Order: sequence, then structure tokens, then C-alpha cells
Amino acid sequence: MKKLSLSTKILIALICGIIAGIFLQGAPDFANGYIKPFGTLFLNLIKLIVVPLVFASLVVGTTGLGDIKKIGRIGGKTLAYYLLTTAFAVILGLILANVLNVGSGYTIPVDAAVEAREIPKIADTLLGIIPTNPVKALVDGNMLQIIVFAIMLGGSIMAIGEKGESLERGINSLAEAMYKMTAAIMQFAPYGVFALITPVVAENGPSVLLPLFKVIFVVYLGCILHMVLVYSGTLRIFANFSPIKFFKLISPAQIFAFTTASSSATLPINMKCAESMGVPNHISSFVLPLGATVNMDGTALYQGVCAFFIAQVYGLDLTIAQQITIVLTATLASIGTAGVPGAGLIMLTMVLQSVGLPLEGLALIAGIDRVLDMARTCVNITGDTACAVIIAASEKELDRNVTTSNTASM
Ligand code: ASP
Repeated sequence: MKKLSLSTKILIALICGIIAGIFLQGAPDFANGYIKPFGTLFLNLIKLIVVPLVFASLVVGTTGLGDIKKIGRIGGKTLAYYLLTTAFAVILGLILANVLNVGSGYTIPVDAAVEAREIPKIADTLLGIIPTNPVKALVDGNMLQIIVFAIMLGGSIMAIGEKGESLERGINSLAEAMYKMTAAIMQFAPYGVFALITPVVAENGPSVLLPLFKVIFVVYLGCILHMVLVYSGTLRIFANFSPIKFFKLISPAQIFAFTTASSSATLPINMKCAESMGVPNHISSFVLPLGATVNMDGTALYQGVCAFFIAQVYGLDLTIAQQITIVLTATLASIGTAGVPGAGLIMLTMVLQSVGLPLEGLALIAGIDRVLDMARTCVNITGDTACAVIIAASEKELDRNVTTSNTASM
């Protein structure tokens, strides 16, 4: 029998997990007690590699760019793509929510109380990106701070020339070792995906999802439209890259993001997908770890839809000025959102607060957040890879032969 590729195995595991979850709907305790631990085990394995992987690959990526000018150019292009697509995502979310009347027909349950949460402030998010102690940033796994430190270290290694070579070689070996470890851990991905998705389906059966079906529908529709319009369009226009090929090669990472709801956890597999598209290592090592932390189009879109929904169910009309404020805060909030499950819901507080919407509204979303998280995370990581392909093409470094052979063999 022909050996199945890893991505096919992951897909089969996802489908089996969903079916198992449907059967276990009456017994979520069984799913949580006996199946979920295997998923958690797998997630822990992934988490284990994320910090050293992001750090080492960003240093390698930065030094690999060769000179400061190129870092500036690629960094500038990357950030421009990330910010513009994110702002577009919020606008798309707001338009869909307006047009489809996302909050209509929903009455607020009386017990919609929300636990007090600490509200993140925009200023704190921005100030917090410079680590005062980089070792602490690594220990705490504070991704934004790790990124800043890694890029500064990479730039400095380059600036000292020969004197930096041994350190560069050392960090390079660390990165290689982390890639190897990733590949080994990925062999367990199908089991991990099965064990992660089963309890989610068992727990979030139709009774939880149905009342807020419209929100789910609008977020999913927005996510699909964003991927089809923005990523396909920009890939075609800026990289002359076939969207069909792109979506075929990115599918393992998408399924993985969908099940884990974590951009950080998906980073290792996403790097492999970018490689299969012909993105050179020094570009993907720079663009993807950065994107896994700062680029969250799906999260921004979701925040736009949810803000509008909450306004509507509380009978508040959002003015155009308020909606523009939402675009700005959601774009910034998505930068500060960590690539872990549920982080977007916490950052939604910031968006609601910026236009004075009731924070109690979060309680409505919280029940279905996991299901929304799966879709938005999928979009988040897809945007990172689309950017990597576009940057590689714009630098004339995209290896188009690799793509052809990979698509043929998938
Ligand atoms: N789970 C998302 C991610 O990792 C973040 C979010 O909650 O929106 O990309």
C-alpha cells in the first residue's frame, strides 16, 4: 500500500476525531479524562520547541539576510503587509457584521455575567515589547520581547563581522537541532490532532453552538473570504504564485492551527510548509516567527465581528467614528495577542473598552470562543505564509522548481 503523507494522516486524524467527538457528546468527561491528556502531551512537546525555535531561527534569519539594509527592506515590507492585511480583516469583519445583521434575533440571557478580567492597555502592549531582561523574556516565553531581542542580536552579530562568526555558527546549530526535533515531534501530529479535537467536539455540541450560530457563521464566512480574496489576490498579484498550489501546500499547517488554536504551536509545521513552497530558509526564519506573534488577521476580523455583535445585542448603535476606532484598536490588539488559544478573547476587552461597549458581552462570546478560535488561528498562520512567499518572490529568491515537484507529489 502506498505510504500516506503526513498531511493526509493529519487530515484523516481530524475527521476521525470529529466523528469520535460526535459520538462522545453525552460523555465529555470521558473525552476530557482519557483522550485529552494525549493531546496535552503532544501540545507540551510542541511548546517545548517554540521558544528556542523562535529565538534561534530569528537570529539566523536576521543574520542570514546579509546586511542591515536588507533587514530594513524586508522588515519594512513584512510589517507593511502584516498591518495592511490586518486592518483589511477588521474592516471586512465589520462590513459582514453590518450587512448580515449579526446580532439580530439574539436576546441576552439573564446570567450573562463576566468575571473581572485585567484589561490590557494599548500603551502597556507597546511599551512591553522592549525586554529589560532578555533572559526573563526567554524564560517567560514572552514572544514579542523575544522577537525584539533576537532581531537586535542578529543585527549586532552581523555588525561585528568576523568576531560574531562563532556565535552565529552556534545559534545556527541550535536552529538546525530545533528543526530536527520539530520533524521528529511532527510524526506524532496525527495522534495529537485526534486527541485534541475529540474533546472539543464532545464538549461544544450543538446545544452550545446553536444560539450563537450567526456569530459563528459570520466569523467563518469572513475567514474564508479573507483567505480567498486577500491571500489569493496578493499571491497572484505580487508573487505570481498559484493560490491553488498555495492552499494545497499550506493545508497541513491549517489543519494543525485549526485543531490546536495556537499560532505558536503551528509555527514549526508552518516553516516546513513554507519550505515546500520554495521560500528560502533565511526569509521564512525571519518572516514566520514574526508573523506567528504579530500578524493575526483572523483575530482582528473576529474582534470586529464580535464588537459589532455585542453592540447590537445591547441595543447600541456604533457610529462610523467608533467603527474606525475599532479598526485601529483591533489591529493593534491583534499585534499584542499571544499565539495561544483564547488570547484573542482577552484582547477583545481592549477593543470593547476603546468604544465604551459593555464588557459583559464577553460572556456571550466565551461559550463559543474555542470554535471561533480554530477558524481565526487558521487564518492567522495562513497570512504569515502568504507574506513569506510574497517577500521571497519580491526579493527574487523564491525557488519555483521546489513548488512544482512538491505539488506533484502531494
Ligand atoms: N489562538 C490565536 C492564535 O494563536 C490567537 C487568538 O486567540 O486569537 O493565533
